[in-house]
Amino acid sequence: MAGESAPSTSHLLSLDSPVQFALGVGPKRAEAFRALGVETCGDLLDFFPRDYAQSQGHVPVQQLQSGQLAGVQGEIIQTRAVRRRPSRFEALLEDASGRCVLTWFNQMFMAEKLVPGVRVRASGKVTFFNGRAQMLQPRIEWLHDDSAVDQSPELIPVYPAGGDLSSRVIGSIIEKNIPLLLPHIHEWIAGDLLASRRLISRRKAYELIHRPGAWKFVQTARHSLAFHEFLLHQLAVGMKRHHQQQLESAQALRTDDVVDKRIRALLPFTLTAAQERVITQLRHDLAARHPMNRLVQGDVGSGKTVVALYAMLSAVAAGAQAALLAPTEVLAQQHLFSLEQFLAGSRVKIALLTAAISDAARRKTLAGIQDGSIGLVVGTHAILTDAVQFQNIAMLVVDEQHKFGVQQRAVIRGRYAAVHTLVMTATPIPRTLAMAVFGDLDVSTIDELPPGRQPIATRAVPAGRRAEVYAYLLKQVQAGRQGYVVLPAIDENAAELRGATRTYNELKEGELANYRVGLLHGRIDAPLRREVMEQFRAGKLDVLVSTSIIEVGVDVPNATVMIIEHAERFGLAQLHQLRGRVGRGSHKSACILLFENDPPEPPPRLAAMIKYSSGFDIAQEDLKIRGMGEIVGERQSGRPDMRFPDLLLDPFLLPAAREVARAIIKADPHVIAPENGELRRELSARFKEALTLADVG
Ligand code: ADP
Ligand code: MG
Repeated sequence: MAGESAPSTSHLLSLDSPVQFALGVGPKRAEAFRALGVETCGDLLDFFPRDYAQSQGHVPVQQLQSGQLAGVQGEIIQTRAVRRRPSRFEALLEDASGRCVLTWFNQMFMAEKLVPGVRVRASGKVTFFNGRAQMLQPRIEWLHDDSAVDQSPELIPVYPAGGDLSSRVIGSIIEKNIPLLLPHIHEWIAGDLLASRRLISRRKAYELIHRPGAWKFVQTARHSLAFHEFLLHQLAVGMKRHHQQQLESAQALRTDDVVDKRIRALLPFTLTAAQERVITQLRHDLAARHPMNRLVQGDVGSGKTVVALYAMLSAVAAGAQAALLAPTEVLAQQHLFSLEQFLAGSRVKIALLTAAISDAARRKTLAGIQDGSIGLVVGTHAILTDAVQFQNIAMLVVDEQHKFGVQQRAVIRGRYAAVHTLVMTATPIPRTLAMAVFGDLDVSTIDELPPGRQPIATRAVPAGRRAEVYAYLLKQVQAGRQGYVVLPAIDENAAELRGATRTYNELKEGELANYRVGLLHGRIDAPLRREVMEQFRAGKLDVLVSTSIIEVGVDVPNATVMIIEHAERFGLAQLHQLRGRVGRGSHKSACILLFENDPPEPPPRLAAMIKYSSGFDIAQEDLKIRGMGEIVGERQSGRPDMRFPDLLLDPFLLPAAREVARAIIKADPHVIAPENGELRRELSARFKEALTLADVG
């Protein structure tokens, strides 16, 4: 029914019209709208409900109460049109219990449809006027026959209110203008591309966002709009990449069967099917002459390191060099250790480069990097400094890229733009996913753990029962296992925060007096830190007391207990990472989250840790608890820069958008074909930079 008999003002309104000219908005409300970031009529359509309220289905007219959101149904028995300005149309609705008035302003076209005798369902907010129930600007549905009385409750959009604009006022303004504005919404892509993915047109989606009727339509509408949004991003990114691929040429790394066999011979285990799949994707990427840009996401312990090793050895086998970049010193050492084990039977030379190594070692390593005798470098961001001159680097692996700073990432993008890049991450945290959307990363997933892993028993325990927890740790240590105790800080502070140093001292003199306890934190000298880590790895320490410095990557299969003190102070992704330090061998492992809370109820984050074991579920839960704004960042106006960030985690939408974007770019690399006119217009409006780049090519 949208717009077909709309009043003549519709010809004057466009999406670019100032919101002031929308129906029901004057200068004063326009100002209030501007404060909400709504400048134009298009913004008005883009002002989405933050939620939907259920009205209580339909109620007998006689039971309507003032202020209530309600639906009634019955027969129109009388109508009245008042054609002065503002024009008013009234219809009297009758059901078995009584009568109420339905009133519209400036919507005379209702008069043609709402004639005496039709049966309708009306919903909206109830007011009383002269003792009679009345609904202003209600939503109408036509009921076609008596028997099909619809009992399902109605959804009413709830808008983020502000200033003098209540959700209700905003709703009624949007409701009024929708028929006028929808016809101006352009469709970007052909309907069959949408239909085959069970998505709907932009126009229909906008309509359903504002007047869904039922939940399933809200979902369809959000998915469809998100898809269009992602598609645009993917196109911008894809065009840029298409252009770059013509500019940057990387060394093609072909791993033939001989090389493949040689690499596999170094592994003490068979790869999981998921690792195999990702390696196949890598080999395909690496064989090309343009730089690979791939994100490998795989839960903690899923075996990303061997995948990285495979990629790096592909470079070394081709006579080039490779580097692995880790966000922390501890992790770099862990990687060095694991890689050295794998490489024990090979001639590949591997070296560590961090800020903490001795000057002599650094000089030697820098020389080896420069003359090409060192094939594989593992290190921290020290690798990114100017002093490091590779003879011929062809493969760069970045572990936990989101932990690197903007500047370091700029160096990677700049100096190593023509180098194949593999980014690894354990938790598909929304930020990483957003990077995959905004950046031009292909994504591979290792969605399987190596065989024989035991689930980690996770418990949240109030700090008052600490003694039991340490008794358990003692029992495990007596049985020959090792354990971690993690604290949020090194020292105590005023906020009654337990620190690592005190806990270390207490354990050494108390429960664990007969055992070997180590301490690890950021203020301990790097060489000593390294020694402590090595002792723990070698089983020469039973328990390691540490700050979250061991968060990522540490791999000691004999460790079976992870105790986290003040667990309430850690983020979900961090807790999940820490938990991933245990359960890496064949022994049953436990993660105990000690928390301070009054009353002693575990906070939601800890409950999520108990409920979920997969990083994917944790990431989704994290999003729910923290909300979207914090993760994706907000635009100046206060409106999110990326719409529907929650749907980034939808397993279907992003890949679908990517697939469609690729197909479009393949057929029309500069997106200039006439059938892509609307897409082109929207891209120019939003992603000028990407287009300028693409235009050069
Ligand atoms: P993450 O993905 O967390 O980096 P790692 O690469 O550190 O995981 O692997 C965790 C542990 O699993 C390591 O000890 C590694 O040697 C082992 N591992 C990796 N792949 C396999 C496999 N296919 N079969 C058995 N063990 C494996
Ligand atoms: Mg790892």
